[in-house]
Amino acid sequence: MSDNPVPQTGELRVLHVEDNDADAELVAQALRRGGLAISVAVVQDETEFRQQLKACPPDVVIADYNLPQWKGMEALEVLRSEELDTPLVLVSGALGDVTAVECIKQGATDYVLKDGLARLPEAIRRALQEKRTLRLRRQAEEDLARKVNELARSNADLEQFAYVASHDLQEPLRMVASYTQLLAERYQGKLDETADKYIAYASEGALRMQQLIQDLLAFSRVGRSDVPSQNLDCNAIMDEVLLSLSAAIQESGAVVTFDKLPRVWADRPLIAQVFQNLIGNAIKFRKTAVPEIKVSAEAAGADWLFSFSDNGIGIAPEYAENIFVVFQRLHARTEYPGNGIGLAICKKIIERYGGRIWVEGQVGKGSTFKFTLPAAMPEKNAPRLELVGAQR
Ligand code: ADP
Repeated sequence: MSDNPVPQTGELRVLHVEDNDADAELVAQALRRGGLAISVAVVQDETEFRQQLKACPPDVVIADYNLPQWKGMEALEVLRSEELDTPLVLVSGALGDVTAVECIKQGATDYVLKDGLARLPEAIRRALQEKRTLRLRRQAEEDLARKVNELARSNADLEQFAYVASHDLQEPLRMVASYTQLLAERYQGKLDETADKYIAYASEGALRMQQLIQDLLAFSRVGRSDVPSQNLDCNAIMDEVLLSLSAAIQESGAVVTFDKLPRVWADRPLIAQVFQNLIGNAIKFRKTAVPEIKVSAEAAGADWLFSFSDNGIGIAPEYAENIFVVFQRLHARTEYPGNGIGLAICKKIIERYGGRIWVEGQVGKGSTFKFTLPAAMPEKNAPRLELVGAQR
């Protein structure tokens, strides 16, 4: 698109509201002298103005501020009532600063004094440029809103698909898993060695697929549950999570410490899931040293900033984003078990409550997973920002 706001083909159509022929001629001369190719229609009152608007819609309106029967600003009201965004430039004998500012506030694009008409062509060019910019911006806003809608719809479709697929796959898979298990129990050692091996592969594959599908279902359920947020004591949630991870903690000798944690507004099982996934990973991705896991939270503006740090194997910065994507893992299952869904679930839960989650750290130097959660209640009664629970 050209940078020149003035129409390149044909003339600029000017509709001039003016009762004085000499003044109208002076304005036309000023425009031509300023290099504008114009065709001008001069009208004196509202009826003529409306007729001309219909007969030949102008590119710009110039209006005398003070006509005996009509006021220039009333032309603006007509333009509005016709839903036209044609720029209007006022031309006037003497217009006080206050009045001029008021006219601009009400929507006139500019004003030019009659004894300063040399400025008029530039005022018109600027008015047309402004209108063009405004149109482009509106267009861009509309495009963006449409794309956001499309994205939301396709996300919802995808979520529905993941839910239905994982839900409906469970039943046939349960059959495959139980019958391969039956086969294994009944025919183990009764056929040849190769048959034993095949049966073992089949039941192992079925079990793995069952786990995968259950995880996928858990992932797609995060977006579906519509439980209203509760005010949760994160210390109590942490106690529960440590209890349910006690076998892994004991087996690895992990030392988990946490500072006083705040209360947050969320759904209890979902926040417990985030804590459990992060601590579970910190234990799973350990080095040979005893895992040391530290959990803390601090106020950060309108949010709580949580931090889960460990002394495990760490994560290379280039994978810091990938690991939050479903099924993305950095290791073979034989090295570390898992499906690569845990962090995707954490991200979905945290974003659902308006927070952000990310990881910091280096390979071999441990990782720190951080996430934010808004401190305020989602709608009305905001909670107090307070730390509760015992120091550990
Ligand atoms: P999974 O644990 O099933 O592999 P996750 O989605 O929980 O899936 O994690 C994705 C990947 O992120 C893991 O496979 C691992 O490579 C990396 N990761 C997650 N947590 C940690 C951690 N605390 N330390 C090092 N790497 C981690």
